[in-house]
Amino acid sequence: MAANLLDYDLEGLALFCERLGEKRFRAVQLFRWIHQKGASDFDAMTDLAKSLREKLKTCAHIAPLRLLSQHESADGTIKWLFDVGGNDAVEAVFIPESDRGTLCISSQAGCAVGCRFCATGHQGFSRNLAAGEIVAQLWFAEHFLRKHLGRDERIISNVVMMGMGEPLQNYTELVPALKVMLDDHAYGLSRRRVTVSTSGMVPMMDRLGQDCPVALAVSLHAPNDALRESLVPLNKKYPIEALLQACVRYLAVAPRDFITFEYCMLDGVNDTPELAAQLVDLLRTAGGNLNWCKVNLIPFNPFAASGLLRSSNARVQAFSEVLSRAGVVTTVRKTRGDDIAAACGQLAGEVQDRTSVVVRIHKQRSAEALANTGTLDAPRATEVH
Ligand code: SAH
Ligand code: SF4
Repeated sequence: MAANLLDYDLEGLALFCERLGEKRFRAVQLFRWIHQKGASDFDAMTDLAKSLREKLKTCAHIAPLRLLSQHESADGTIKWLFDVGGNDAVEAVFIPESDRGTLCISSQAGCAVGCRFCATGHQGFSRNLAAGEIVAQLWFAEHFLRKHLGRDERIISNVVMMGMGEPLQNYTELVPALKVMLDDHAYGLSRRRVTVSTSGMVPMMDRLGQDCPVALAVSLHAPNDALRESLVPLNKKYPIEALLQACVRYLAVAPRDFITFEYCMLDGVNDTPELAAQLVDLLRTAGGNLNWCKVNLIPFNPFAASGLLRSSNARVQAFSEVLSRAGVVTTVRKTRGDDIAAACGQLAGEVQDRTSVVVRIHKQRSAEALANTGTLDAPRATEVH
């Protein structure tokens, strides 16, 4: 079977070149063509010898994910749904802000952790994505956006592993994908601009710290084990104390001097001022002070099967004030792309229920731009039935 070159970090590609009887430095040229120029056709790689190009055609390819749909929100957020075979789809979301462009990508089709408030979790686990399928989301988005926005320079400045799946339960494929993101010959993102979000895979947090210490976000959602267990089942295996100790260990290698804690605000479940005070105590005890952490309060994106509701703004505000007054740096995440359900797992959840899907293309120009993406050969945005 032909090798998918999107699967390789630079070292992997160098080994691949060696196996072909080529010099390792050819890998740098190839890597740049693929990731910096968005090439998927070996014939376009004009500074590679014709003989090498012919050889590559027989044993390698650059495999994009099949695009199922694109939704563009009024606020500029764009969500893509990709087919990964076997009736599974994964999503990636681009969130433009004045000073950065963030891409949120998926690591698995479905998720085995099964958090109560997460649509992906409710869907169950299908399979791990290959490194090349993780990278393909960035590869597609970066080069699509350059064309779409008519710009020649880098558009995506930050990547967050906050789409579908638990990245640290797909560790072997995650690490080479992260290395591609960081490589100067590919996307050249700094470690502080690539964030892995985890529900608390403690042993893998330590390994990530050794192998590829990017920024870390930890989905906490509750300040005590009883409540956290009811929301994040993985807490039974790795309870809060072990999780926070792993966070403190990670700080020694983290690219920033803090860990971000995510806390999804669920009405009447985890959003009282008492729980906020408990959270302050917990973080202070774990780290000795409160300077080592940031808390990101996420408004819950409701879906029917969860039976849960979003906390009111007033409750989020009150919770946030308890944290801030105690000295915890706290932000309330803005909801972006609300009109296109651009939140964790939402669209993929819709797709699973194939009878009731209505894909809305919000702006015709997105669909037109999609059809005109040239070398990326993107299919026209299609409706999913
Ligand atoms: N599995 C990883 C990363 C993917 S989820 C993790 O759990 O951290 C990314 C973030 O989205 C997590 O913080 C998760 O708790 C949050 N999330 C999941 N479902 C959500 C929902 N319905 N509303 C708001 N945030 C949600
Ligand atoms: Fe999986 Fe993260 Fe969703 Fe939990 S919140 S089910 S870990 S994707």
